[in-house]
Amino acid sequence: MYFVSTRGEERVTGAQAVVQGIAGDGGLFVPERFPEVSAQELEQMLGMDYPERAACILGKYFDEYDGAELLAALREAYGRFEDGDAAPLVKVENGMYMLELFHGPTCAFKDLALTVMPYLLRKGCDMLGIKENILILVATSGDTGKAALEGFRDAHGVKIAVFYPEDGVSKMQKLQMGTQDGDNVLVVGVKGNFDDCQAGVKKIFASQACRETLKERGYLLSSANSINFGRLAPQICYYFSAYLDLVSSDQIKLGDRVDFAVPTGNFGNILAGYYAKRMGLPVGTLLCASNKNNVLTDFFRHGTYDCKRPLYRTMSPSMDILVSSNLERLIFEFSGRDAALTKERMASLAASGKYSVRPEELKTIREHFRAGYTSEDDTVDCIYEFFTEYGYPMDTHTGVAMSVAERYARKRAEDISAEQRPMVVVSTASPYKFPQDVLYALTGNDVKDSFKGIKRIFLLTAMKVPEALKAIRYKPIRFKDVVPPDKMFGEVEKFL
Ligand SMILES: *Cc1c(COP(=O)(O)O)cnc(C)c1O
Repeated sequence: MYFVSTRGEERVTGAQAVVQGIAGDGGLFVPERFPEVSAQELEQMLGMDYPERAACILGKYFDEYDGAELLAALREAYGRFEDGDAAPLVKVENGMYMLELFHGPTCAFKDLALTVMPYLLRKGCDMLGIKENILILVATSGDTGKAALEGFRDAHGVKIAVFYPEDGVSKMQKLQMGTQDGDNVLVVGVKGNFDDCQAGVKKIFASQACRETLKERGYLLSSANSINFGRLAPQICYYFSAYLDLVSSDQIKLGDRVDFAVPTGNFGNILAGYYAKRMGLPVGTLLCASNKNNVLTDFFRHGTYDCKRPLYRTMSPSMDILVSSNLERLIFEFSGRDAALTKERMASLAASGKYSVRPEELKTIREHFRAGYTSEDDTVDCIYEFFTEYGYPMDTHTGVAMSVAERYARKRAEDISAEQRPMVVVSTASPYKFPQDVLYALTGNDVKDSFKGIKRIFLLTAMKVPEALKAIRYKPIRFKDVVPPDKMFGEVEKFL
């Protein structure tokens, strides 16, 4: 299977796409064609466990990887999840289901990809005969950083450095990263916001001098953000698995269509849902849910992406983002895979902060996607009401998706001509990962201390506290340094 750049002629293998991360022309790698999953294959997958299902899907994209070895790697990765199932589906009311993706080592959905990516990368390097060590650089607004650190900790031939904005992550996220284990990890706070942090990392990637220095010391740069196809691919698998679980529990018949509501930031998660649809999964609408940072809602309604606006800090920090990188992959598809046009639009985004798609493109996009956003107050209300009514606590990101999903479902229920379909809400983080905000939503009480928040939520909900979060409380903080953006590369040099 080959991959092509969204902006040009570059064509590489799966291993190359993972190792390189981003195409030489600045574009993102996308599969040359979408591999198909037939109804017969879907039926065969019904009896499989999660790692087996994932091996079926991933094997279609990474066909140069050994199938048995891939399955073994997936078993090992998902063996690190609590309670055995990496992506359980929970029914909360008729026609509404939660896909819980937070049972991994860092309690957010990014674990589903970042526990698998080290294998894809290391094996990819072996296949390509790359002798250098790999240095992974990550700029994070919280969840990616921790999940990448856990995924790559003590990985052979890899070092990982994570930069986070000093004041742009939650207390729990900072603690999770500061207490990270592993001999090959570095965590550094950066003075400034997420954009400063991200710009600093991008600068290192773009600098010939930095690359030369790294090369002399035997390192090759790579990334673990969702622009890397190795991050995206494992996410396709849980859309399949959720669907299969609905069939095997007799909620739907094979072939019925299902909608998904996804709390969206960088557009990686929901794009994986679209890829699943292109592979043949009977998906109806993909509902793109945003918080007050509603750039995507405007795009899906009017066809213009315009990020010239203020960035708000919200209770769902992993969705506080103005430039959703993975949208490039989507507009590439709906332009009829027109790389020149995609390149032009991305140049316009870089120069003026916006671009538009043609009305006929928007029309086709809207056959697959709908979008909505919700206020902080409505998110809080939704979390409160859902817990009161169904005894189901959810995190603030999931609360955004649920709030948008309920509004959408209500509207459709009123429309007698509309097909009524089950809705799966993708639950991206454990409520214990954002304890202060979740406690506030559930009770109206503010607590200063994260662990006090965790205890109160437990007393209220009796939901099991993840071992990984419990353990942090008594761990020494290893990483405390905070540097200005221009000192970031200096920290990397010291680290190597
Ligand atoms: C990263 C993240 C998101 C956003 O996912 P994207 O793939 O960037 O759209 C949503 N919720 C949580 C908890 C996250 O960590």
